[in-house]
Amino acid sequence: MQDLITGLVHHPYEPPAGFGAVMPAVHKASTVTFPNTAAMRARSWKSKQGYTYGLHGTPTTFTLEERIAALEGGRFCALAPSGLGAIVMTNIALLKQGDELLLPANVYGPSREMARTLLADWGITHRLYDPLDASSLAAAISERTKLVWLEAPGSVTMEFPDLRGLVAAAKARGVLTALDNTWGAGLAFRPFELGVDLVMQALTKYPSGGADVLMGSVTSRDEALHQRILQAHMRLGIGVAANDAEMVLRSLPTIALRYHAQDAAARTLAAFLQQQPAVKQLLHPAFEGSPGHAHWRSTCSAAAGLFSVLFDPVLPAERIDAFVDALRLFRIGYSWAGPVSLVVPYDLGLIRGADAARQGTLVRFSVGLEAVADLQADLAQALRQLD
Ligand SMILES: *Cc1c(COP(=O)(O)O)cnc(C)c1O
Repeated sequence: MQDLITGLVHHPYEPPAGFGAVMPAVHKASTVTFPNTAAMRARSWKSKQGYTYGLHGTPTTFTLEERIAALEGGRFCALAPSGLGAIVMTNIALLKQGDELLLPANVYGPSREMARTLLADWGITHRLYDPLDASSLAAAISERTKLVWLEAPGSVTMEFPDLRGLVAAAKARGVLTALDNTWGAGLAFRPFELGVDLVMQALTKYPSGGADVLMGSVTSRDEALHQRILQAHMRLGIGVAANDAEMVLRSLPTIALRYHAQDAAARTLAAFLQQQPAVKQLLHPAFEGSPGHAHWRSTCSAAAGLFSVLFDPVLPAERIDAFVDALRLFRIGYSWAGPVSLVVPYDLGLIRGADAARQGTLVRFSVGLEAVADLQADLAQALRQLD
């Protein structure tokens, strides 16, 4: 079978007659005109066969939707102006007053924040489950549960969940599952083949790869489910600008090269840090001893260029901050998958109910596209702050 990336590079589009450019054109619109009233009435905003209004799609955003669907192995895709926007759109599409939402305990922070605030205000409750233990999810499901979010691995703490067990637990009770696939990027594993219903991705990360675009996607294989997402998309009035879609289209053909290069570089640096006396635990799902490593091994063929390190709790937070401040190539900043390597220190106690085994300061590294030897030298010089 042809490789996914070959299909993505050769993904069909129709250039104007006689102009076989490799990249698709950029079409921008709010207004789209109709040839006559009959054509106007016949066209539906829900149909991808025609165009009605810029908010509901242009040839440029439709092309990107098709390519993201191809990347994820799905059939239908809706775009949102950010990854978080895609999460919110999914929640609004699928939940109503009285429903309950289940989130992994290590879920992307702003997703939990939305559940705690907006969803709670609208009479939608949420509960947390342990992503490493499918029986914890099974026990949390009630008559009111309408959606289970999955995330692989968990944000910041990087535990790789028992995706097969979690999907089976949700399916046994007829509950929909949505996976935040930002880390997997469509390249580490095939979520729809595990039975997931909806696959969300922050296109901000690997599909963009530039640290300069915000966008999200929600992909499905089921048309009726996609229609529910699309209706929320329309009612919320969220659209994606053609120039932003163009930037993601420009980056997509190189996604596999970047992903695998950043994966390899991250493993080199993670192995280096794991040997440092100040490091208590490496949190990278591809490494033995990292939580959920066995699930990663049975599910994935690759990993993102992202990992965290838990420092020895005897080291005060100020020393860790000094280490982070001493880094020159790793820049302090949120997000990941861009060209510049990034670093963020997190106080574990603040982001999660800290258990005794996991005290101390955690530092997350996102590996960019610099030469790995230079990044390792940067880590080595900054580690002197901890001697
Ligand atoms: C970045 C990220 C998001 C949100 O994406 P934005 O485009 O920044 O809103 C959601 N989930 C995960 C796992 C992310 O890393």
